[in-house]
Amino acid sequence: QVVTRFAPSPTGFLHIGGARTALFNWLYARGRGGKFLLRIEDTDRARSTPEATQAILDGMAWLGLDHDGEVISQYERGDRHREVALQMLASGTAYKCFSTQEEIQAFRDTARSEGRSTLFQSPWRDADPATHPDAPYVIRLKAPRDGSTVIHDEVQGDVTIRNDQLDDMVLLRSDGSPVYMLAVAVDDHDMGVTHVIRGDDHLNNAARQMLVYQAMGWPLPIYAHIPLIHGPDGKKLSKRHGALGVDEYQKMGYPAAGMRNYLARLGWSHGDDEFFTDAQAREWFSLDGIGKSPARFDFKKLENLCGQHIAATDDAALLHELQGFLASTGHAPLSDEKNTLMQKGMYCLKERAKTFPELLEKAEFILTDRPIEPDEKAAKNLDDVSRGILGELTPQLQNARWTRDDLEACAMTFAETHEMKFGKLAGPLRAALAGRSATPSVFDMMLVLGQEETIARLTDAAC
Ligand code: GLU
Repeated sequence: QVVTRFAPSPTGFLHIGGARTALFNWLYARGRGGKFLLRIEDTDRARSTPEATQAILDGMAWLGLDHDGEVISQYERGDRHREVALQMLASGTAYKCFSTQEEIQAFRDTARSEGRSTLFQSPWRDADPATHPDAPYVIRLKAPRDGSTVIHDEVQGDVTIRNDQLDDMVLLRSDGSPVYMLAVAVDDHDMGVTHVIRGDDHLNNAARQMLVYQAMGWPLPIYAHIPLIHGPDGKKLSKRHGALGVDEYQKMGYPAAGMRNYLARLGWSHGDDEFFTDAQAREWFSLDGIGKSPARFDFKKLENLCGQHIAATDDAALLHELQGFLASTGHAPLSDEKNTLMQKGMYCLKERAKTFPELLEKAEFILTDRPIEPDEKAAKNLDDVSRGILGELTPQLQNARWTRDDLEACAMTFAETHEMKFGKLAGPLRAALAGRSATPSVFDMMLVLGQEETIARLTDAAC
């Protein structure tokens, strides 16, 4: 069974790169009937905060990335990490090193002056335990000195690291605390992780983590190190170019489905498919679809996909998500009456809206109440002449049947008899019905508002 994991360090928000890593792991597991686990790498006590853990959980919840089992705290597994280090000590794949900081520095200085590698080589590596002093020590891994370690990476191919470039890393510090590199290997093994999918900034760590696996005789997981996300300019992703927490995207009102679709496309592709559903993503996602070069973050693409997802989501589900958006941005919930109108009008509100704020902008005619206060631009469409025209049109609408065909016919006839273009009529109607100049079509607004409310608004504006 496939087991993947997301292993964030809780030192800030869930940023876009982390969210993508989580999504890839989630897609890989979910598409294969596997498990997707969550481990919080909170061993750095000074930098880890409960707020950051909560932000990660919230971000994942918003994106719909549900994990299996309990959330695992790496810090709480410290005893187990120590246990493994001691097992390695007992089996001779690790050793006690009594070298002091000064001795290590002296080793490096000499090596540098003699032009040799400055990687520390401990004199205690092969020392007889009988000669051990009664002094503080660290436990080091006895790394192979010859040959090389090859990471068979599903994305990067075979990556070879010469063993003489890896030192005997510390496993347990002199205070007995385990190092991060040991913790990751032990946790991944104990959690039964079969596939480690993460950013390629961890590629070098993989070589060290593999040494722990080998020392313990554990089967290696499959590695897939994904290239990091770059900005549109090809440089490291900056704040201005989208390196924000996913909560920021939520607040900007991007729909989660559009965000998932976009994140999936950041570094992974399935032929020419840009727009896809979650079900398709789960079915299609594979490690060989991951590109070797860094993906570039592109707001335009994100917006485009979000627009397509809004258009494709059914009205009730969209209203539900919109309500979530309002709540997350501190807005009061909509009244039942407004909710009913929103549901009724969703078919036209969702056209060409790329975000929830854009959708709400279109919904202004539903959300505002009489008397309608036209904004500056709309007010220009309500001069005396226009208000006179509305005054003539209103009684005719009062007698019309409230169907799109009849409303259109009524307006067209009116425009013809007054020898005016329909466009001339639309501006004042928008202003009267919504107080805005950019709105859904006037007929959509009339149908959503209903005859009574439409006539009332027109009567208010007319003279
Ligand atoms: N905690 C690491 C990070 O947030 C990830 C470690 C891993 O995936 O192995 O970058």
